[in-house]
Amino acid sequence: MGCYIGLDIGGTKLLVAAANPFGDIIKTVRQATPTGLDAGLSTLHEMIREVCDGQEILGMGAAIGGPLDYRSGIVSPLHQPEWRNVPLKEIMQSTWNCPFFVDVDTNAAALGEYVRGGVTCSKLLYMTISTGIGGGFVIDGQIYRGKNGAHPEIGHQSVFYRCKNPDAVMCECGIPDCLEALISGNGIRRIYGKPAERLNAEEWAEIAYNLGQGLRNLAALYTPDTIVLGGGVALGAGDKLLPEAVRVMKENLILTPAPDVRLSTLGYETALWGALVIAEKGI
Ligand SMILES: [Zn+2]
Repeated sequence: MGCYIGLDIGGTKLLVAAANPFGDIIKTVRQATPTGLDAGLSTLHEMIREVCDGQEILGMGAAIGGPLDYRSGIVSPLHQPEWRNVPLKEIMQSTWNCPFFVDVDTNAAALGEYVRGGVTCSKLLYMTISTGIGGGFVIDGQIYRGKNGAHPEIGHQSVFYRCKNPDAVMCECGIPDCLEALISGNGIRRIYGKPAERLNAEEWAEIAYNLGQGLRNLAALYTPDTIVLGGGVALGAGDKLLPEAVRVMKENLILTPAPDVRLSTLGYETALWGALVIAEKGI
């Protein structure tokens, strides 16, 4: 029957899945990401061999951290320092003799949510809140791309914020008032001196307020139908974050409609699902 292969290549873990032509995942395997490039690639090849189990591979899709060029398939994921200018498309196509497509992990995740997340809408914005913040925007099934194919960085928007420790607000990009600096896992550690799981109610209220202001900017500028939130901080927080953030967003949106905002139903596998969509449909 043949299968499609999806790869989620992260800085800490590798996920590889095979799906049948009906879109059902047959098998998923996971491994820690080796530090070296050669070890990383050979681990991926082994994982692919394991999940496809001798079947013909009809197409392969990969989700990986940016920056990358989705046309040439050359990747340089920021959080994998030994992966620089890696011709991933060329490597995978010549090894596996099948079409191969790669996109930024948050674009893939947005596509995964759009196709597999159970939402029917025209304009979907996906935001992941984990160690950092990223996002992807899907319009009628197509990934939105910016100038020269650039990937929008929704975590690096300025927000009107509240913070009990404002001196500690500094984004890793060097700008002092990014959303990422305020509500990402790394930002939370810097500001509150502890991981998100240990925040108290008052601290969650600050995070929710700041997220609400970020959502308000996104809703005012993009007017999406739906915003889906994923990533460890968002999924772990649940009701401590979402209702208050939505309230703040709505309170500050006057001229544009409020989108539906909800947590991802695909959990930690959104990018993997997206990679499988890319494997089947291409980019
Ligand atoms: Zn920033």
